[in-house]
Amino acid sequence: MSKSKLFIMGLSLILLISCSKNNKIEQTYFESMNTFMKVQAYGEHAKEANEAAQKYIGDLERIISATKAESDIYKLNHSENFPVQVNAQALSLIKLALNMSEISDGAFNPCLYPVSSLWGFTKKQYRIPSDEEIAEKLALCDWKKVQITNDGVIMEPGMQFDLGGIGKGFAGDEAAKKMKEFGVRSALLDLGGNIQIIGTKPDGSDWTIGIRNPFGDGTIGILKASNVAVITSAGYERYFVGEDGKKYIHIFDGTTGRPSESDLVSTTAIAPSGTYCDGLSTALYVLGLERSIELWRKQKNFDFILITKDKEVYVTKRIASKFSLDATQGLTSKIVK
Ligand code: ADP
Ligand code: MG
Repeated sequence: MSKSKLFIMGLSLILLISCSKNNKIEQTYFESMNTFMKVQAYGEHAKEANEAAQKYIGDLERIISATKAESDIYKLNHSENFPVQVNAQALSLIKLALNMSEISDGAFNPCLYPVSSLWGFTKKQYRIPSDEEIAEKLALCDWKKVQITNDGVIMEPGMQFDLGGIGKGFAGDEAAKKMKEFGVRSALLDLGGNIQIIGTKPDGSDWTIGIRNPFGDGTIGILKASNVAVITSAGYERYFVGEDGKKYIHIFDGTTGRPSESDLVSTTAIAPSGTYCDGLSTALYVLGLERSIELWRKQKNFDFILITKDKEVYVTKRIASKFSLDATQGLTSKIVK
């Protein structure tokens, strides 16, 4: 056999081995940020990449958790003297969260911790507070009072951050960056239903994501997507039923200090940045259908799937061809242009 033939055979073998390695999916399951997470990746170093993602998310939780006493956010929330210096990751997330508050006209408010604690969401000791109690706590929730200076964060004593509405999206962005450092070009991170996608599947096709049915089990349809985050906020995730028989959800309206009662029951935001989508999904929920569409027309840099109480599904035109509604579930869809 000639030398060149041998060389080509050798090369093919190497290619075959590396392809088969790249086509094997590596899955890692873990619990973090009070939810179940699953990271799946392709690539020669997929396993190390998944482990790096898991470690990053665990470390981030210890920095941004509002309930862990050692976290930077906990220290900020319990400080009497300002400015307070916080870790760079926490600071950049605080800035991104406040930016989302600006964009959404306060619908996203990362300072609602005093109010959600009052309703018992932080310790799972739920109750319906009085109007007076709500008014008192709401006075501590003005995100416009937060100042970021070179010496740290300044806010009023008693104000408290809750980054629960944006933290998992940020974790997705940053963990994806870490995974790319391991050469991963194809992966799906499912952080408690918050989806962050790196690239396409190895064969170049889109990933398939189910959109959960807010009225019951299963999904209402599927979305085909690549290289984006797909993040949903919904009332079914965490709620309690009060003595009055009403359902009180974990997403709050910062203008009333009460659980949001908009006309939406599920809001999915789709864009490259997980942080942006996570903040947006929460904001859209509070804004309701009409104001969400207004925000989309103004921003133009994201897509959405919004489900109303009346079982209507609103999908932006750019992703409409990638979304298929399950006709058996009794919902109807409309394209927003
Ligand atoms: P989840 O974290 O359940 O996936 P979301 O991204 O919608 O869903 O975040 C909800 C969480 O965000 C709440 O549990 C609370 O910590 C926080 N939150 C509640 N209301 C708001 C709001 N209006 N703006 C910002 N964060 C909020
Ligand atoms: Mg969110």
